[in-house]
Amino acid sequence: MLIIGSHVSYKKDSGLVGSVKEAISYGANTFMFYTGAPQNTIRSKIDLENVNEAAKMMLDNNIDKNKVIVHAPYIINLANADPNKYEFSCNFLKEELKRVATFGFKYLVLHPGSHVGKGIDIGIENISKALNIVLEEDNSNVTILLETMAGKGSEVGSKFIELKRIIDRVKKKERLGICFDTCHLNDAGYDLNNFDDILLEFDKIIGLNRLKCIHINDSKNSKNSHKDRHENIGKGSIGLDTLIKVIYHKKLEDIPKILETPYINGKAPYKEEIDLIKKYK
Ligand code: FE
Ligand code: FE
Ligand code: ZN
Repeated sequence: MLIIGSHVSYKKDSGLVGSVKEAISYGANTFMFYTGAPQNTIRSKIDLENVNEAAKMMLDNNIDKNKVIVHAPYIINLANADPNKYEFSCNFLKEELKRVATFGFKYLVLHPGSHVGKGIDIGIENISKALNIVLEEDNSNVTILLETMAGKGSEVGSKFIELKRIIDRVKKKERLGICFDTCHLNDAGYDLNNFDDILLEFDKIIGLNRLKCIHINDSKNSKNSHKDRHENIGKGSIGLDTLIKVIYHKKLEDIPKILETPYINGKAPYKEEIDLIKKYK
């Protein structure tokens, strides 16, 4: 079954109910949200009544809460060992795992981090160390999904081998998974026209069983550009045909696909893009 949704907003006043309503309005059967503004870490207390109401609404609308994705704010940087920032990032991630569990969801997508000039090896060490600190005392069932990155600036995680090296160093490996992002894969240099080869390589290095989410985005830039600028479906360098092949790939049927394409004239494009994708069923 196609599991498709998009990024939706999460607002203090409407809470999770608002997010679910937005997903339903797009014809989606899953969604992804940030627990607050992605660029800051101000988070309001979760209203449990609202969460219960949202859970009922999901049930009534065939949204499986085991496939819903939470995205950690991108200012968390586990690769930067600057003492203040490192502690802050670790503490925030601990809190975020608790929030995801309170919502009743299973997956938290995380950008591995940027090494800010210290080099990939140190970046990988810092990220693994942080994940060990965070996971040591966390007993939730939430899985952290490390996202494949475009390799912009000093980002860690634009190659499968880098993600593999992080997983290798983490004790609670069962708490880690991977989230693909088609724009990031393209910009990192992977050729999505040969998606089967990408899957084979991923399976060999990390294991397909760790893949739990795919961000579906076209790219404003060419393969290997290391830019990370998302484009609307079919309007970028990846193209509709290639994205459709990824979305309907037999091996990825049960994996939620999440659109993070840009708004058009201040309006979310997700209803139209989901309609377009469904035509290829
Ligand atoms: Fe992301
Ligand atoms: Fe993404
Ligand atoms: Zn991106």
